[in-house]
Amino acid sequence: MKEHDDPPMTHTPVDILLISDLHDAAQATPDRVAGAVLLRKALRRLRGAGVEVNVLIILGDVTAEGAEKRLRTVAEEARQANVPVLAIPGNHDGAARRFAEIFDCRPGLHEIAGYGFLLFHDAVGAGDVTTRPAEARSLPRRVASERPDLPLIALQHNPLHPPIQHPYPYQLANADRVMSTYQEANVMLSLSGHYHPGQTAHRVDGVTYYTVPALGDPPFRFAHLCLDGRRAQVHEYALRMETEGLVDTHCHTEYAYCATTVEAERNVAISRAMGLHAVSLIEHTFQLYFDREDAWSYRWQTDDAMVQRAWQAGRGRMPEYRAFIQAVRDRHAGRVRLGLELDLRANGQLLLSPEDQQGWDLLVGAIHAIPGFDAGHTTQTGAERLFLRETERLLTHPIQVLAHPFRFFRRAKLKQPVHLYDTVAEMLAQSGVAAEVNFHGNAPARRFLEACLARGVRLALATDSHDLAEVGDLHPHLSILHQVGVRAADLFTLLYRPDGQP
Ligand SMILES: [Zn+2]
Ligand SMILES: [Zn+2]
Ligand SMILES: [Zn+2]
Repeated sequence: MKEHDDPPMTHTPVDILLISDLHDAAQATPDRVAGAVLLRKALRRLRGAGVEVNVLIILGDVTAEGAEKRLRTVAEEARQANVPVLAIPGNHDGAARRFAEIFDCRPGLHEIAGYGFLLFHDAVGAGDVTTRPAEARSLPRRVASERPDLPLIALQHNPLHPPIQHPYPYQLANADRVMSTYQEANVMLSLSGHYHPGQTAHRVDGVTYYTVPALGDPPFRFAHLCLDGRRAQVHEYALRMETEGLVDTHCHTEYAYCATTVEAERNVAISRAMGLHAVSLIEHTFQLYFDREDAWSYRWQTDDAMVQRAWQAGRGRMPEYRAFIQAVRDRHAGRVRLGLELDLRANGQLLLSPEDQQGWDLLVGAIHAIPGFDAGHTTQTGAERLFLRETERLLTHPIQVLAHPFRFFRRAKLKQPVHLYDTVAEMLAQSGVAAEVNFHGNAPARRFLEACLARGVRLALATDSHDLAEVGDLHPHLSILHQVGVRAADLFTLLYRPDGQP
């Protein structure tokens, strides 16, 4: 028979996302963000940090008032992660049984990746006084004797330890009795939520107790739990930017054909909640002037008659978009910048009608497609020549920012032209145009950023958001700037800011 406290160390490490207290509700205050978006952001943040999550644990209070629709939305979002989901209800989630149905997750033992997760639905009484009944208290011992091979991890909404001195009953009322059942069963780890500030890990009688901070409250915290045998490591993250005063220079709206979930109003609210000073709402002119099919055909690059027709016939959705987006800016004075993402036509002109040249805070030049470039046929050298010519032409126009420099090569499945980094940085310096730091389907090159910084080219921090999960997240941007040696004290002198009319 195997010893309780010495199970075989044959596990591969398991990476777990721990979240709690989303308190998903109708968006009433500036600091509330939809639970599904927070969950997606947390997963995305870990992926960005190189962590592929194996299990998702939700420790209750998914909603503010137990609305079934909100529970279902978050449960659906959790399923999208494509990993086992362990969820327990909190005192705000309504009937525990319905919660378990929606998340398809019952109380009791769940065996995943060589671990035994013990899920408890504790009894919430008057005044939110919460207790664990005797029947549930016997579970750890039962499981430990039947499955001595499983390292056990207990999940409940209410914290057990350390005690919380507060008139509100945060702690499980019979925490002491419950803790002795954990000690007896050699439970390795006990995870809770409910107490929004969270509690760092404390070890008592061989059991580690940890309370996950609330993801639903600023600064929107969550934790990465890494299990390796009986070793557990917790690393906490916050979604909100620690650096204040940052501006996102590139965020799409519901008018983008390539958008998934972004919406101008929600972009502004989320950017604000994530601690940004302002967000620049940017739209592609080619998607505003043309219908979906014509836009994606890129024929407007070479077909002047097509462009003239669209401009004479009312400029597609542009007038409607302008009215819409200016109203958004008016509603959020100081927090919104407006701009356009502009492509070149084959004649070297921007795709921008004379009527649409005024009224923007910034114009972003982009190279998405190059006339004459034929994927699979044009050589690397040929593509580089075309790209340089396009960049040169783009920089003769009154743009302030160059969008996702060199992403063209990635999309065209060509090599990154490292030897052009200095040339393009020099061109930007000469024309006074900023370079985007843009991670949307893109990996900015450190070497290019260094070439820009060496020449005083300003950097524009761009989320290029198409999904709400991307909105307001400039962590990868600050991280790469840190990697190229930018000191926090110098940050703002190096950044481009769209602070007025071009
Ligand atoms: Zn709670
Ligand atoms: Zn673009
Ligand atoms: Zn864009």
